This record gives sequence, structure tokens and C-alpha cells, in this order.
Amino acid sequence: MAAETICRGLSERLQNFDAQPCRDAELAPAKPLSVGKRPLLYRDFPATAANVAPKRVLILGGIHGDELSSVAVVFQWIELLKSGRYDRYSWRVLPLTNPDGLFARPATRVNARGVDLNRNFPSPQWSSQALSYWKDKTRGDKRRYPGPEAASEPETRWIVEQIEQYQPDAIITVHAPYGVLDFDGPQDPPKKLGYLRLQPLGVYPGSLGDYAGLSLKLPVITLELPQAHLSPSASQSGRIWSDLLVWLDKTIAKQPAAR
Ligand SMILES: [Zn+2]
Repeated sequence: MAAETICRGLSERLQNFDAQPCRDAELAPAKPLSVGKRPLLYRDFPATAANVAPKRVLILGGIHGDELSSVAVVFQWIELLKSGRYDRYSWRVLPLTNPDGLFARPATRVNARGVDLNRNFPSPQWSSQALSYWKDKTRGDKRRYPGPEAASEPETRWIVEQIEQYQPDAIITVHAPYGVLDFDGPQDPPKKLGYLRLQPLGVYPGSLGDYAGLSLKLPVITLELPQAHLSPSASQSGRIWSDLLVWLDKTIAKQPAAR
């Protein structure tokens, strides 16, 4: 799937989507493919060579395929990263982690096998909680099916592999449309990022916050943009970005090296 196909597909689906940052993003395909055989795409922005022990930040967009703005905003941030002004950190960026959901017609929250990837992460409680929570608390909502077992989906396994190999010091994951900011992990959370204010949403068994935030003790910032089908403006996404950098500089940059 060429970049042009992806960027055109996003333009068709998303109001006010600027396709140029998408075309210019120079994403690389990872080895595994999605269930529907679409590429899983990423891009690295390494830290400047002058920084010998940079902190690493992992950014994920579109884990729920019908939250299109969460993909668009990550492309806006890729534009900012390309300026080289943020190379005091290393960045790994995964703009569309659920390509099958994103390019389904209509787009779906779940992947091509009907699994909510953000309930499929292998947290220690997955086996005891994920399916019973789904049946009892969501009454078997098809949009929230956690899968037949933990990490049953190639997209989930790919993200887990990124966390294990890249060893991020912070994870940023973008959703829509609740218009808030959530945080999992032992650090002090940011109180606001741009127009999004901290409002803990609770932890769902098998979510990225459950897996990486609570089990691995990594800071996981979950952004919930206010609209799923409308990109944030450049100034809105820029303000989220600059507040994020303030938080990273204050909270993550000074952490002693864990490894
Ligand atoms: Zn979501």
C-alpha cells in the first residue's frame, strides 16, 4: 500500500485533512503485516548524536480505526519532528496502528478480525479479567471485544514488540472523541495538553494503559481529541505538542536512566 493510497484514503475519510504532511512523512513498513495484509508503518526520528543517552518517546495514532483525527494529528506532529528542533529526544512514530479498521468502509474501531486492539494487550490480568469484563460490563459490545486471548492480533503484537525493543521512556497514544487527557503510570501526569485537560477515564483490562502504564510502569499519556472526523487545526495540535514537550522536559528528561 503506497503512501499515496494511504494519504488519499485519509483525505476521502476525514474533513480538513491536509494530505501533504502525510505524503511527505516517509514512513517505513515494519516486517509484520496487519490481519488484512496492510503494512504497519512507522518512522524513527533519532536524537542528535550529541545526546549520548536520549530519552525515547513512542507515539501511536489510530489504534481505533474509526478515530480518524487521531491519525491526522500524528502526521501534523511528524511535520514538527522533521524540523529537527526536538532531537534532544529519540522518537518512534506509528501514525496508523490499525490500518484495516481505518480503511474499512465504513471505518471500524476494531481490526479486521473484530478485535478491539486496545483491549488485547497482554497485561497480567488479561486471562482473569478481559473477557469477563467484556461480557459483564460492556454486555458483549462488539466494538470492545478483547480477542480470544491476550495479544492474539498481529497489530497488538507489533506494538508490544516496539515497546520491548525500543524501550520507550514515555508513550503517547491518541484517541477521539472524548476531549480529555488521561494518564497511566507512576509519574505526575500533565494537567493539560493544549485544549485537553486531565480527566482520568479509568483502566480497562487489556488496554495499553493497563499493560504499559500499570504493569510495565511506563508513563502512558492518552489523548482523547474532541472530534473523531475532524482534524485539529495546526495551532491546536501545535499547542498540544508544545505542552507535551514541557511535560517531557520536566518529568521524563530528568529521570535517571533506567537501563
Ligand atoms: Zn479510542
